Amino acid sequence: MIYVVGSYNLDLLVRVERFPEDGETVFSKEIFSGHGGKGSNQAVSASRLGGKVKLTAAVGNDDIGKNALLFWDNEKVDRSNVKVKNTKTGNALIIIDKEGRNRIIVNRGANFLLSPEDVDVSRSKEEDILLTQMEIKENVVFKALKEFNGIRILNPAPSIISNKEIFNYVDILTPNEVEFKELAPADDIRSGLELMLKKVRKAVVLTMGDRGVILATKHKKVEIKAVRVKALDTTGAGDVFNASLAYALEKGMDLDEAVGFANAVAGLSVTKEGALGPKMDEVKLFFEKI
Ligand code: ATP
Repeated sequence: MIYVVGSYNLDLLVRVERFPEDGETVFSKEIFSGHGGKGSNQAVSASRLGGKVKLTAAVGNDDIGKNALLFWDNEKVDRSNVKVKNTKTGNALIIIDKEGRNRIIVNRGANFLLSPEDVDVSRSKEEDILLTQMEIKENVVFKALKEFNGIRILNPAPSIISNKEIFNYVDILTPNEVEFKELAPADDIRSGLELMLKKVRKAVVLTMGDRGVILATKHKKVEIKAVRVKALDTTGAGDVFNASLAYALEKGMDLDEAVGFANAVAGLSVTKEGALGPKMDEVKLFFEKI
């Protein structure tokens, strides 16, 4: 089983020619809303591959929260440990200008009421996987990592981590390049990896967009090239990568194999719009082509 402990947001995406100045009104070119939040994105993407996923998250007692519960049911994510809090569901307002630059405002809502008491991973087994991120309170992430009995993956996004003890309970850390630089300030990637490897238990998997991935353990460093695809929308590539890594490890692949699988599935995901990953039958077809 894959346990995901993380966030849910309703994303509201607005496209504009240019950002408004102070006191100015601009008209949007396009607006749409969609399910988001790293916890939910990763849980749904792992479930689409066929993984058995249990989500711990919090929504508010509003229509957005009710829709999120229906969404997880449709996506076959076990949401029996999703809490409904007496507040609003988290929202992210994402404004994108014609150059593709973004300005994002997040109202964390219920995500910030998820508490350590809401986490129950006591029945997790050695072969289970935990996947968690930093869009919820740090003490919640800490409890999940500390009490989990299987393999623990921390996707340190965003990378603001004040309790450094967290790393003692992380088996695999999966930063992107920005998070990596913030967590391990060093002159070059190699020294940064050495720094991080001293803190975590097993491996650092550094994702580098269209340049692929570096898998670093105490014994070796392997660079895996990204698959060559025509990228259409790279939003959520990191979420699909983490979900696929968790899925592959839960299926019993070794770490090298699992990172290769995640790199390919994330590559496939950027050829399509949206932050959520592909279904397993699409992945199989893609694997025949590459
Ligand atoms: P996001 O914040 O958009 O979710 P991220 O910054 O967390 O993404 P990236 O490092 O950009 O994550 O991408 C994760 C993985 O997705 C990469 O390591 C790679 O495997 C795959 N990927 C991303 N962009 C591309 C691309 N253009 N072509 C092929 N693979 C890609």
